[in-house]
Amino acid sequence: MTAYDTAVIGGGLLGCATAWHLARAGNRVLLVEKDQVNRHASGQNAGSLHFQLEFRMVEHGDDAARAAARALPLHLDAVRAWATIEDELGERCGVSRTGGLMLAETPAEIAVLDRKAALEREYGLDVAVLSGPELRRFAPYLADTVLAAGHVPGEGKANPRLVTPALARAAGRHGAVLRTGCRVTGLHRRGRHWELRTGAGPGDTAGETHLADTVVLAGGVWTAELAAMADVRLPVFPVGLTMSATARSRPFLPHLIQHVGRRLSMKQTEDGNVLIGGGWPAKLVSRAGQVDLETNPELRYESLVGNADAARVVPAVWDLPVIRTWTGMTTLTPDHLPLLGAVPRRPGLYVATGGSAFTLGLTYARLLAAMVVTGEPDRAIEDYSPARFGALNFV
Ligand SMILES: Cc1cc2nc3c(=O)[nH]c(=O)nc-3n(C[C@H](O)[C@H](O)[C@H](O)COP(=O)(O)OP(=O)(O)OC[C@H]3O[C@@H](n4cnc5c(N)ncnc54)[C@H](O)[C@@H]3O)c2cc1C
Repeated sequence: MTAYDTAVIGGGLLGCATAWHLARAGNRVLLVEKDQVNRHASGQNAGSLHFQLEFRMVEHGDDAARAAARALPLHLDAVRAWATIEDELGERCGVSRTGGLMLAETPAEIAVLDRKAALEREYGLDVAVLSGPELRRFAPYLADTVLAAGHVPGEGKANPRLVTPALARAAGRHGAVLRTGCRVTGLHRRGRHWELRTGAGPGDTAGETHLADTVVLAGGVWTAELAAMADVRLPVFPVGLTMSATARSRPFLPHLIQHVGRRLSMKQTEDGNVLIGGGWPAKLVSRAGQVDLETNPELRYESLVGNADAARVVPAVWDLPVIRTWTGMTTLTPDHLPLLGAVPRRPGLYVATGGSAFTLGLTYARLLAAMVVTGEPDRAIEDYSPARFGALNFV
């Protein structure tokens, strides 16, 4: 049995980034991943770096938007985190921050855009609402139906296939021990330590036990299952999402595109493919009344059509054949805020999940690692604390 300062469960972006921060701070870190690093949401997502409030945050009215805006301090931190990550890791991660536009096509949508921008400015986000000739000059590829757009300069994209493996390598260089194909099956408090049991998996020997002073749950959609191993209920819900990619084309779309009135995210990769997503659902697979988290969600025809509708606002996309569509799962909390911090009444147990955790993942990881090492992150994170769901836990 080996003892570690911290065991991180989950080899997605959050787990690998947290392991990297902890290891470079001198922690003895074990990272445990049941499959391969980057196998799930972190490697399947759209790679959007969106710092504006998303459609899902503004579609339910101003009160809901104001509540979701409580994560904006993390967005400001994430702008800075993505600006420096490639230099810090010494690897290219496909980061491009040439700006993002959130489109409005009706007067009612322009009004939402204006209210959204006013709210974002209260938190210090650099957002301008462009319209008329100014918008046409800035984004000549947009359809005439687009009347206005919220513009944030630092928005953009990163390559989900590169970021997390680079973070895992960096964690390894700082001494973190990475165990892939190794599923955590039990989590128990033993005196001052946490005892992790791992089950059999490819490349793993059955029934190993590891000790750690602290444990970070970075299990994505499996977070509730992992928390339950420590007898904690966390209200995190899996959501199935759909993405489509077009054939390659000449570069014509330099910005990240979103829409304030409907589901849409669109960007062009370095290779020239256009990636389309933005919250189009996929059907979660159930077995015996439980969501089967090990099986990819099923494609919904309406979501394919919804992806294709992106061409309405960027007409050049009409000519591009869709070459691939895929589904993945991500985690949401009931209030759309992140779940980040120490789990009450479970000394040394921490969690990070929920929200736009690709965009915000580097920030979650840095803050969580600081909390583990020093007890205090350098920015307030009480708004995102698991303690807000404390009423679900009687023990
Ligand atoms: C289709 C899609 C598009 C998205 N687009 C965007 C976007 O454009 N921008 C954005 O900000 N966010 C986006 N997201 C959300 C984003 O991908 C996730 O929030 C982020 O990647 C979460 O990373 P994670 O590390 O928490 O989870 P994951 O990447 O899922 O990693 C969790 C890991 O934990 C492991 N694990 C679970 N249980 C155990 C166990 N018992 N033992 C060992 N290991 C275990 C899993 O195998 C998994 O590898 C999108 C998500 C999807 C699915």
